[in-house]
Amino acid sequence: MSAYKDVFKHWGLNRVINASGTMTSIGASKVKPEALDAIISVMPEFVSMEQLQERASTVISGIIGTEAGCITACSASAITTGVAAAITGLDLDAIEQIPNCEGHENRVVVPMGHMINYGAPIHQAIALAGAEVIPVGTAAMCEIYHLEAALREGAAAAVYVVSHHTVREGELPMELFVEICHNYDVPVIIDMASEYDMDEPVKLGADLIIYSGHKFMCGPTSGIVAGKRDLVRATYLQNRGIGRVMKMGKEAVVGALAALEIWAAHDFEADRASEEKNLAFWLEILSGVEGLTLARHTDWTGNPITRIEVQVDPSKAGLYAWELSDRLACRETRIMVRDDHIEEGLFHLDPCNVNLEEVELVATAISDEIDKAKDSGDGCKSSWSDVKRARSTGPLNFLGDN
Ligand SMILES: *Cc1c(COP(=O)(O)O)cnc(C)c1O
Repeated sequence: MSAYKDVFKHWGLNRVINASGTMTSIGASKVKPEALDAIISVMPEFVSMEQLQERASTVISGIIGTEAGCITACSASAITTGVAAAITGLDLDAIEQIPNCEGHENRVVVPMGHMINYGAPIHQAIALAGAEVIPVGTAAMCEIYHLEAALREGAAAAVYVVSHHTVREGELPMELFVEICHNYDVPVIIDMASEYDMDEPVKLGADLIIYSGHKFMCGPTSGIVAGKRDLVRATYLQNRGIGRVMKMGKEAVVGALAALEIWAAHDFEADRASEEKNLAFWLEILSGVEGLTLARHTDWTGNPITRIEVQVDPSKAGLYAWELSDRLACRETRIMVRDDHIEEGLFHLDPCNVNLEEVELVATAISDEIDKAKDSGDGCKSSWSDVKRARSTGPLNFLGDN
């Protein structure tokens, strides 16, 4: 057997249990076997990438219902190449000049509350195309007059984000946003990399819609772009320019298409049923642990996912929520919980990427860490500011001294 059949052993990698949802920092998703079949079938062969992307367009438009589609390296690169496409159109010379936009409209409007960071800031992905990013409104308020004032000055595109990262109050609904942008003949690019819904933006006539191939779809690292024919063509043609540095391989295209086809025919009820089992187990086991308060929590953006919210009472659990989360992540088998609200003293357990055995390991690890903290008294030592400070410089641990 080849050593590469077990890369964890071969390269000494820690196993990771993912109770956090879809996080690209831990490899995004467990790739579907059908997508692996497609990848294995194409990897040792040559194939015309142009023909492959034309097939991709047929598959995407058939499933999502847009005029056309193509596959990109990831959603972030789809934002960059999609914005570049809105700037250059089908002008092959302009494509080679990007990020220099001379002679072309390059203003791109984005609601201020949508200026998110999904691991990198979205304004940078837009600016990479040579665009001038125009924030619209304020952090928690975007009115029609804010958007219209920006559009009146001219714009190559408008970007709208659907994500748990965006500000949720005071925002323009997608329907209004698309309608107003279209009143000014400005194409709308919708980034909904991590969402289930594929119907609303299509129904509203959005010009370019971006999904991630490696999040809920469980394909290889890839972006799925669906939209109006000429904008999709111009997005694909960016491979002759700025898209070259974010090139997708044949494995990304076939893997994403297989994942999309499987997704379209998928039994979501069966998924929900197995997730419910996971939730029920966590509720039963963890409700017996002193210091934890549990509740069911429905998804922020309406994805059909229920998670367990775990509130940690440090006076009873012997440690803060952020200490618990960090200790779980440092175990030999790393356990990742969803901790983007950790400063509120709570985290979430996501049931989508764990099997029953892993569900049990997560519950046991949580109760072990609480017992250990109570016995040793080594908890409640790091304030949120201490942890925030450590996390701010955490990225520098990569190949660093400590
Ligand atoms: C994850 C995410 C991205 C980045 O997606 P990749 O495919 O990993 O590049 C962009 N936007 C949103 C809203 C996301 O959730």
